[in-house]
Amino acid sequence: MAKDRIGLFGGTFNPVHSGHIHAAQRVRARFGLREILFIPSYIPPHKETRDLAPAADRLEMVRLAARGLPGLTACAVEVEARQTSYAVLTLDKMKNRYPGAWLFFILGTDAFLEIETWRDHRHLLEECHWIVMTRPGWPRDRVATALGDSYGKRSHLLADSETPGEDLFGRALIIFMDVDALDVSSSAIREAVRSGRPLGGLVPAAVEAHIRSRHLYQKDNG
Ligand code: ATP
Repeated sequence: MAKDRIGLFGGTFNPVHSGHIHAAQRVRARFGLREILFIPSYIPPHKETRDLAPAADRLEMVRLAARGLPGLTACAVEVEARQTSYAVLTLDKMKNRYPGAWLFFILGTDAFLEIETWRDHRHLLEECHWIVMTRPGWPRDRVATALGDSYGKRSHLLADSETPGEDLFGRALIIFMDVDALDVSSSAIREAVRSGRPLGGLVPAAVEAHIRSRHLYQKDNG
């Protein structure tokens, strides 16, 4: 029987936006993932936290965004741990939750380029598969230059025509995929809210309603 395939999509999700959803749907379809877990961090180790919304709100927004979307699920594992969110701890928990599954960490190129600052990153890189999504401003050749030779042997640029299967997972740990990313970021959304500009589809409607009702990202909070 084919192994189960699960995506782990960690982030601050401050807030989750349409770019996250779009990219996750592309990855899920392409890799045949049964499920992608959106895992908001409790305390992100790599981000400044000045205008960070409460973890409960960030988790709730992910729940609202994923509602009704097949295969996308909010996961509370890091929020419930109530400690600095290290991917290496999360991965251990997920291995117990999904024994025998192929686990794929999903992240954008900007995040992947900081991988060497992550706790136990060498161990992490060996312990699961990585899907690195290209984003505007991060063309693949720039990524390749930035990474140098360190991951060359174990990485693979997924061609548009290619269907990633178990033969590929057997030899490549880090797979770069062009997700036709939307040019949206959480910081741009926070800025739009602060300046009173409409969000016009940059976040799902239910997420916008939550931001408004909880008065998140207003001047007074940031
Ligand atoms: P900020 O603007 O606050 O830095 P962000 O928009 O990058 O936030 P995060 O929650 O930090 O959002 O992102 C979680 C993950 O999603 C990261 O791996 C990031 O690279 C990726 N990501 C964010 N926005 C996009 C997008 N538009 N397309 C593809 N991937 C994205």
